[in-house]
Amino acid sequence: MTATTAEKKKVFVETFGCQMNKSDSEHMLGLLDEIGYEPTPDIKGADLMILNTCAIREGAEDKVYSYLGAWRGYKEARPGSLIAVGGCVAQDAGEAMRKRAPYVDLVFGTHNLHRLPELVMKASSGEPVVEIYQELPEDLPETPVHRLNDISAWVSIIYGCDYNCTYCIVPYVRGREKSRSPQSIFEEVKSLAESGYKEVTLLGQNVTAYGHDLEPKLHLGDLLRQLAVPELEAIKRLRFLTGHPRDLNVEIIDAVRDLPQACEYFHIPIQAGDDRTLRRMARGYNVDFYRRKVDEIRSRIPDAAITTDLIVGFPGESEEEFMNTVRLVEEICFDVANTAAYSPRQHTPSANWDGQVPEAEKYERLRYLNTVVGDVSHRLNKRLLGRKVEILVEGRSDRGMNRLMGRTRTNKIVNFEGPDALIGQLVDVEVTAANPWALRGALKVGLTV
Ligand code: SF4
Repeated sequence: MTATTAEKKKVFVETFGCQMNKSDSEHMLGLLDEIGYEPTPDIKGADLMILNTCAIREGAEDKVYSYLGAWRGYKEARPGSLIAVGGCVAQDAGEAMRKRAPYVDLVFGTHNLHRLPELVMKASSGEPVVEIYQELPEDLPETPVHRLNDISAWVSIIYGCDYNCTYCIVPYVRGREKSRSPQSIFEEVKSLAESGYKEVTLLGQNVTAYGHDLEPKLHLGDLLRQLAVPELEAIKRLRFLTGHPRDLNVEIIDAVRDLPQACEYFHIPIQAGDDRTLRRMARGYNVDFYRRKVDEIRSRIPDAAITTDLIVGFPGESEEEFMNTVRLVEEICFDVANTAAYSPRQHTPSANWDGQVPEAEKYERLRYLNTVVGDVSHRLNKRLLGRKVEILVEGRSDRGMNRLMGRTRTNKIVNFEGPDALIGQLVDVEVTAANPWALRGALKVGLTV
């Protein structure tokens, strides 16, 4: 049953956190479309306000409740409108959220997204609803999706994580790894190809573990090869996020080397550059193991981009151990390193450990690491000066009136001057300037690929 536009109710979704959450929000919109809701950017005009939350950082909860406090005003100004909260903070809080914010009408988790239409209808009858599943259903429900981008699409392929890194709340709020069937992924990518999408990013908290829980077992390299077929040739670029060094096997690297669609971009969080810290994080590898993984990539794909995540100020981290991380950044030369100060999360072992690094010291380390990371990225970006790069034009740039923005195959942002007609196209651009975070380019006139 699909309601006509005139009767459609308005839903406003605010999304915090990672790409998986962004993809979940698109599925929420797809599900709600089926019961007569359409997205609106205007919260004041919304019949349903959804906050899709992230629990990765301390203070995540405070941020959620400050938003909800503001939304209470919108709800009171629009009688009959509903407030719903989903995502990782909701999954963890459940009933406690309604106790703290009794004006919230619906609290749902990360494992029962497919139930959203029914839960919204129940809450619309005036009965507050809290429904949290402790794990995903045995058969992963396929849900409709309302995409907010018509060039590049998120496709979740595996949910949850089987690791237990001592600082991470993900396994508590996202559960154990569960892979979607390759057939359902193929069908989703096929419909994207038929709808004119050029790029697909395969998502998972640990995307490199894809398929180990399937019968017959499969790995991400197999899946990439299954998606790089003539039937899906409209999809020019395949990417995947976020990997774990232990699961990034050579078959995945070879698939990226062999398949023209697979972009030579590897995001592999190392988190720290010191063995003692890695052991205390329970990451399951040491620095040498990571070095060998980087060598495996670079020996097979010399121009591959390698990016990572780094945490500074982990409990017990000495100045010397921190400097090991700094030295490793300079040694490996990451194209980009996302950095963060350690943030104690409830339910995680390290939150209550002795040796918590004082906040001032943590942020001093973060500031110093960011200067090193920036210098390295800038050095690598400057190497592209004068080079021709192929970019997928994503839209208008926020860097000036007649500028467009796009990304290279190695996920570097490029701003260049050009007509809107190029949005959604693959074009060649010559790199004319570089800063640590982005490149400037000039369109190679007459050259579109
Ligand atoms: S691998 Fe990533 S998502 Fe999984 S527990 Fe570790 S940090 Fe969290």
